[in-house]
Amino acid sequence: MISIARPLLGKEEEDKVLQVLRSGMISSGEVVKEFEGNFAAFIGTKFALAASSGTTALHLALQSSGIMWQDKVITTPFSFIATANSILYCGAVPVFADIDEKTYNIDPEKILEILENVEGIKAVLVVHLFGLPCDMDRINAICKKNNLILIEDCAQAHGASYNGKKVGSFGNAATFSFYPTKNMTTGEGGILTTSSEEIFNEAKFLREHGAVSEYIHQTIGYNYRMTNIEAAIGICQLKKLEKFNKARRQNAGHLMKNLKNLDWLVLPHIPENVDHVFHQFTIRLKKGVDRLGLVEHLRRNKIGCKVYYPMGIHQQPFYQKLGYRDKSLPVSEEASLSVLSLPVHPGLSGEDLNKIVEAMKEFKP
Ligand SMILES: *Cc1c(COP(=O)(O)O)cnc(C)c1O
Repeated sequence: MISIARPLLGKEEEDKVLQVLRSGMISSGEVVKEFEGNFAAFIGTKFALAASSGTTALHLALQSSGIMWQDKVITTPFSFIATANSILYCGAVPVFADIDEKTYNIDPEKILEILENVEGIKAVLVVHLFGLPCDMDRINAICKKNNLILIEDCAQAHGASYNGKKVGSFGNAATFSFYPTKNMTTGEGGILTTSSEEIFNEAKFLREHGAVSEYIHQTIGYNYRMTNIEAAIGICQLKKLEKFNKARRQNAGHLMKNLKNLDWLVLPHIPENVDHVFHQFTIRLKKGVDRLGLVEHLRRNKIGCKVYYPMGIHQQPFYQKLGYRDKSLPVSEEASLSVLSLPVHPGLSGEDLNKIVEAMKEFKP
């Protein structure tokens, strides 16, 4: 079976984890600090703060940026649920802006529409979906003009850049996930990047139970720490990230070239000013094409594929209970019905790629 995602772990990770195990310092410590320093340098921010997951990093980013009870935060409905849940964790309210049909990222025009119609928006939380950076020039300008906090969810875009600048360095704060399916992994884990000393200090304080000094707690915080074992894996993975991303881009290039004559699908859109890191290679099936039939055809050919995402966050049962309306974000809803992600990860062989192309060509839509 050709899987849709697979982490690549080697001797470097094994050796460094063993070193940490033997040191006895297995919880959060110096190895985490080293990983944070390396990651901040890679992204180009002053600070990085490791966390227990991408989700907890998001919660820390929002709360430390000042998102509070009943604040309204604009975000995309077309993402993993953790994006919007992190807003709810703060007691704040997600306000969904529909996506752009070509990029699947939040549509700046829709952000403007909301700003015209909804009072009291405090922040924008963007997601660089599938490894493709959002339209940061437009979004930055909108946030500046309207005095909005900008947070980036870079869980799928480690190393991606926009006009030569890495995602994770645009907003007041940004977050990454190191779940095993992402462009680099630590098992479970996440990280926050920021150049604001205030946000960094606040996030650190919240990560450690709100302690100002040992056993003196000034607020209700959390235990959102990363372990030295995870950071050891992260240090090795970060060194390999550029190589992984290059392989993803090459795999994507191969698929682009060989699938371009199939008139029943739309290939990923790659704007000129971005460095796409292809967390996913997501195609859109044209009207009338049987998606389930294609999934079954690929499965028979031992090729994994997946629908990211089968519904918008606003359509999730829990969000429906909160009162979000189905049939309210047509571009996202249409994408949910027509997208399919094919394997593009760096573990694919040339033979795997050929199998994917052949199976796609054989399919009768
Ligand atoms: C994976 C992911 C998250 C959550 O990260 P975890 O490490 O799994 O908690 C958040 N947002 C997006 C867009 C993701 O893809």
